[in-house]
Formats: sequence, C-alpha cells, structure tokens
Amino acid sequence: MRAQPEHGPEPGQTGTGSTFPGRLVDVAPVMLWLAGPDQLRRHFNRRWLEFTGRTLAQELGRGWLEGVHPEDRDACQRALQAAFAARQEFRTEYRLRRHDGVYRWLVEQGIPLWEGRAEFSGYAGTCLDATDRIEAEREAHAQRERLLVTLASIGDGVIVTDARARTTFLNPVAEALTGWGRDEAQGQSLDLIFNVVHQRTRSKLSNPAHEAIRTGKVIGLANHALIISRDGCERAISDSAAPIRSREGKVDGCVLVFRDVTEQKKAEEARLYLSAIVESSDDAIVSKNLNGIITSWNQGAERIFGYSAAEAVGRPVTMLIPREQLSEEDDILARLRRGERIDHFETVRLTKDGRRLSISLTVSPIRNREGEIIGASKIARDITSRKQAEEAVLESQDRFRTLADNIAQLAWMADASGSVFWYNQRWFDYTGTTLEEMRGWQWQQVHHPEYVQAVAEKYRRHVESGQSWEDTFPLRGKDGQYRWFLSRAVPIRDGSGRIVRWFGTNTDITDWKETQEALRRAQAQLISSNEELERRVRERTARLRSALSELEAFSYSISHDLRAPLRAMQQYSQVLLEDYGDKLDPDATRFLNYIVAAGARADALIRDVLTYSRIVRLPYEPRPVDLEKLLADVIRQDPALQPPRAEIHVEHPLTPVLGNETFLTQCLANLLVNAVKFVRSGVTAKVRIWTEERPPNIRLWLSDNGIGIAPEHHQRIFGMFERVHAPKEYEGTGIGLAIVKKAAERMGGRVGLESELGRGSRFWLELRPADPTSESLRTDHASERLADRHSHA
Ligand code: ADP
Repeated sequence: MRAQPEHGPEPGQTGTGSTFPGRLVDVAPVMLWLAGPDQLRRHFNRRWLEFTGRTLAQELGRGWLEGVHPEDRDACQRALQAAFAARQEFRTEYRLRRHDGVYRWLVEQGIPLWEGRAEFSGYAGTCLDATDRIEAEREAHAQRERLLVTLASIGDGVIVTDARARTTFLNPVAEALTGWGRDEAQGQSLDLIFNVVHQRTRSKLSNPAHEAIRTGKVIGLANHALIISRDGCERAISDSAAPIRSREGKVDGCVLVFRDVTEQKKAEEARLYLSAIVESSDDAIVSKNLNGIITSWNQGAERIFGYSAAEAVGRPVTMLIPREQLSEEDDILARLRRGERIDHFETVRLTKDGRRLSISLTVSPIRNREGEIIGASKIARDITSRKQAEEAVLESQDRFRTLADNIAQLAWMADASGSVFWYNQRWFDYTGTTLEEMRGWQWQQVHHPEYVQAVAEKYRRHVESGQSWEDTFPLRGKDGQYRWFLSRAVPIRDGSGRIVRWFGTNTDITDWKETQEALRRAQAQLISSNEELERRVRERTARLRSALSELEAFSYSISHDLRAPLRAMQQYSQVLLEDYGDKLDPDATRFLNYIVAAGARADALIRDVLTYSRIVRLPYEPRPVDLEKLLADVIRQDPALQPPRAEIHVEHPLTPVLGNETFLTQCLANLLVNAVKFVRSGVTAKVRIWTEERPPNIRLWLSDNGIGIAPEHHQRIFGMFERVHAPKEYEGTGIGLAIVKKAAERMGGRVGLESELGRGSRFWLELRPADPTSESLRTDHASERLADRHSHA
C-alpha cells in the first residue's frame, strides 16, 4: 500500500520527518501521529490530543503507551516492532483511553516514511475510533462461537439452509443422522440430505423446510417420521422447521431441528405394552405407596374387588383387608421396606360388597431411579374357585380311593407313558407287595415267567397307540400260587384329547376259567354219549323197521289169504239160504243169517286192514292235487253220498294242496261216509265242505249235522279199532279214522276235529298248498285206485 498524500510524502518526495505539514494536519478529522526510526513518537495532531485529553509533551516518545489498555499494550508494541523491523505498512487495533477515562477501540494504520530514496525516517500513523464496529464484530463473533458450541453440544440435529433450501450448515448430530459431512453437504439440496419417509407406509414425507420457507411459519413434522441416512441407517425422528428472517423481515433461509426418538418411541411402546398388560390382566394389579395408600388400580382389581379406580385410588389399602388380618399389612409393609418380594402369599380379602375372597398375593417393591423404595405393586389373583376346585378334587379323590379299595378287582393307574404310579389296596393285599416294589414297570415281578414277556409287549403297544388294552394272564399271590386274571385298561384323556393316564383293573377269573373247563369237559362227554345213543337208536330203529315190515307183509298176506276162505263161507251160506231156506227150520235160517252177516263184517274188517297197510307201505311223492275234482269223483262213486240220503254242499273254490291222490281219496271217502253215517235216524245228513288258509297250510273242513262226539273221545277215535258207538247202532270197523290219520301223516299233514255231543262235528285236514300254476294239477286222479272200502254201501 502506498501512503496517502496527507499521511506522508510520495515516494521520492522529501518531508521533514518530524512534523505534519501545518494546519491541515491538525484540522484533519482523523487522529495522526509521527514516529522516528527509533520508534519514538515525534508528533501527535490536535485530534489525538483532544481524544486523549493529554498534552503533547505527555504523549511524545513512549508517553502515549500509558493510554493504551494494559491488555492490548504488549500486542500493540509487538505489532509496531515487527512493522518497524520490516519497514512495512501495518494495521493494528487496540484500546486507547479517552479523556473521559473510557477505553475506545482504535484502528491504526502505519506507513513507513523515507528520506530521499533510501533513507528510512520513521512512520506516520492514522487512527480511527472503531469501537462500535469492533464491539459489534466481537459480539457477533462471540455469538457465533456460542452458537456453534451450542449446536455442537446439543442432542438435536440442526440443518440450516438458504432461501432456496440449499444446505449451509449441519451440526454434528445432523451429520450423524444424515450421514453427510458438513463440508460435502454445503450447497446440496436439503431434500437430498434430509431423507424422511413414513414409518409404516414408507412413502416419502414432504420436507417441512420448504413449507417453512414458503409460509414463513414454524412447521412441525408429521408423526411416524423415519430418517434414512446416506448409508441406509433408519431412525425415528421428530422435527420442526423454522424460517430465518433477515433484518428486513424477508425469509432468507430455514433452520431444521430434528431429534432421534427411536429410544423414546421404544420406551413409549414398552410403557403402552405394560399398561395394556396391566389393564387386560385378569388379576388385580394395584400399587400403593409406603403409607399403604392405593396409587393405581386396574380393571382386574375393579372386577375382583368391586371398587372402581376412582373409588379406590387415594384410599388406604387396608379397606380390602378383613379386620382379623390387618396385622398382615404391617408385616407386608415391613418386608417391603427391606426390599423383599412376597410371592404367592395365600390370604383372604374383602370385596366392596363384603364378600370374602381367597386370593394369592404377590407383592414387589417399586423403586425410583435412585433405587429408593417408594411403594409396592400388588398382584392379587382370585383363587376362590381354584380353592373350591381343589377341595372338590380332594373330596373326589377320597371317594375314588374308597371306591377303588373296595371293589372286587385289583386296580391300578399309570401315567401317559404306561408307568404305574398307583395300585388299590386289593392289589397289595393279593400280591403282598408294596408300592415301592411295584412302581413303574416292576409289576412284571408278580407275573408268570412264561407269560410276562407277551403281556408286557402287548401292554406297551397299546400304551403307544392309545387304544384300550385287554389281556388274560396269571398273577402270583402272596401265597406263591398263581391265579388267572382278566385285565383291562382304558386311557383317560384331558380336554384336548391328550392321554394323561391309564386306569386298569384285573378281575380274578380263575373260578370262571375252571367252570369253563369243566363245562367244556362235560360238553365233550355229552357229545360222545349222544353219539353212542344215536348209534343205538339207529340200530334199534333198523331192527324195528325190519320186524315191522315183516309184520306188515305177514298181516297183508294173512288178510289177503283170509279173504278167499271167508268169501267161500259167505257164498255157501248164501247158497244154503237161497236153495234150502224153505227146508230149514226158522232157527237154522236165523243162524245162517248170522253167519252171512259175520262173514260180511269180517270181510269189511280185512278190507280195511288191507287198506291201512297199503297206506303204510305205498311210496309217497308229493304232487299238487285238485281237491274240487277229487271230491266230485268220490261223491259220484258212492250212492250213500247222494240225495236224498245226503246233501253235500261244497264251498267253491277249494284251494289245491300238495299230497297224493290215493291218500286223499281215502281221507275224503272215510270222512264223508262218517259224516253221512253218524246222524240220528230219519235225519237227512247235511255236509258242508270248504278250505281255509292257515299259513303256511291249507285246512280242508268237513262239517256235519250228526250226533257229535264228546271231547274226551276226540283223540282216541283216530286209533285203530277205536269206536264210540256199538256196531249195532252204527256199523263200522273202527279203522276209517286210523286210515285218515296215517294218510295225513304220510303227506306231512295233520287231522283234527271240533265237536260236542249233539251238535254235529267239524273234521279238518291240514296240508301244504300246491303251487297254483302247477301243470300237474290236471293229472288223472283215478290213476291209482284202492280196493273200494265202501262197495258195501
Ligand atoms: P267206523 O268204522 O266206526 O266209522 P271210524 O274209525 O271211521 O270207524 O270212526 C271211529 C268212531 O268215531 C266211530 O265209530 C264213531 O263213533 C266216531 N265217529 C266218526 N265219525 C263221526 C261223525 N262224523 N260223527 C259222529 N261220530 C263219528
């Protein structure tokens, strides 16, 4: 820099070196001084002297230094020395005492002075009072320093932008949260540096700085903001943006302040969780201070004790304690003060309406941050129903044990794995063992060595599959004898269907087994003796059969052979009567008539016996028989069955039956002849015939208006030669019904009657029905004719 004309000579100009040029210098509005090459001051202008209020003499030389502020004096001198040594212009600032004693800041500038071209002749200096500016500057600087220190040390992140939201400043916290260094962020768009998204939706959130700049208002950021740093770290933040205004009030920037609230949020969430747990708990959760005054009361407490939170908070906790239990509270408080926790203490408490509840109490001390105990939290669980259930369980266990010890079976229980943990008394009584000896799988000791392995394996399989188990095996009693047991076990399941235990019983079946064995032996004997019996019956039957058939053949041949001489006797008697009747006396004629009649009776008898024996011997094969046709044939062939002697009425149709025409002809003929014969004299016989369905049979009925048969004779008259009436009254052989019965039996049918004396009789014959569609119904009935029993009629 070059000296100003008023401050000193132009280069090459010669000056006095000791004085200012006259008046101009003294009237100049600035303070001036001159110094020689020895640094001593040679002159001060009037301005200077007026300022300091001192005389020139006082100031000259080093005198002026007295007015320099002691704090600045050294620095001032050093600056001057350095400048003098270098012969260079200098600029310095120091405080100089004014005439009123006040120090003012001066800005001093000095330029070296030259005599001629090369000779240094000292310095000329000018001073200006710059107190206001310097103090303002100093203050601004201090403020700035303070601000920077503050920004560097506060916990919030601060970003400052210009009016176009370009970053001008970041404090260290902002650097950490954004991941941007202060220098690299300088001039960058705030949006790039301050990257904020919504915590859940992850949509980008608008930067509040823009709005603050636009509106000139302080803007808070929405909740749930998440800042994503340059390297991808995410932190929850809360923030706000405030506009920076110039002195004229124009918005020329923005300061964004934000804070990492991750921890705060976590703490808040934890607190919310905790209070939700407390509120939703079924247990009463109550806190109290050390004076026993309730300080909090959850819904569980309201439900259990009946007081609302408003009613309970602020009142002594003793309101819940029955009088006789009040000392408990003192005890609890004393233990709390010692910092002890009280766990599951079972006691009784009172509800608002005076009911007593069994509760389980857990009391823990509450400490403040410094660790001092300030109260207690109580958790009370209503165990009234649990207590009742426990009692009920005990009672039912008692009942069960009494029952189990008194049943006739041995009983036991095993856990889900099949390991036995309980036996009833009977088990111990029978086996003579103790629970210790039998626990788990030790029961195998009392099993028979031959069976035990199979038994244990089967039991294990059932335990694994969860299916009921049943087995039979011998168990050793305390007397060393084995007895047989039938054992059963069923799984017992809990509410979720999981097997919790097995319950088993063993029933002594030794006696049953022995009875069973005896029964089996008896049965075997029975079977063998039965076989023997049958064999004998078969033998005898065979013998009887052969004897019978011999007899039949014999009686048939006798009857047959008897007929020829009998006929001869009859015919010759008849000849005698016809040819010599008039020569015989009446007695001889009467005797001859007796012989003829007896011959006729013997012939009828023989004929009937022959018929009977033929019925017995004829081979039988069932065939469908048309009863209508057969009946018509029988009636047509016997004059005794024709009017006026008889009126026979058939109720059509008659159901066809399964049988044999020869046999049926015999049956119908005999029954009809009887019906017509056994009427009182002079009465016309009226016979009605019909069939009736008697599933699975058909019953053929013949009803007459005859003399009837007393019930005591109903069975007998079907026997051979059995008659109710004497031959004089009604002639006959007593074989007719025997033939009917035999024929019916041979066809697999039955005969019977309903009758009373004097009321007519109803004979019936029951046979199987014929298949009505059968062709053979139409065969010729008369194909097989027997000797006509009724030829005499
Ligand atoms: P009989 O040759 O005497 O008819 P039966 O064996 O046919 O022999 O009958 C046996 C007896 O049953 C008869 O003597 C008679 O007393 C009695 N009897 C049979 N049928 C009738 C009837 N329809 N009414 C009354 N009595 C009967």
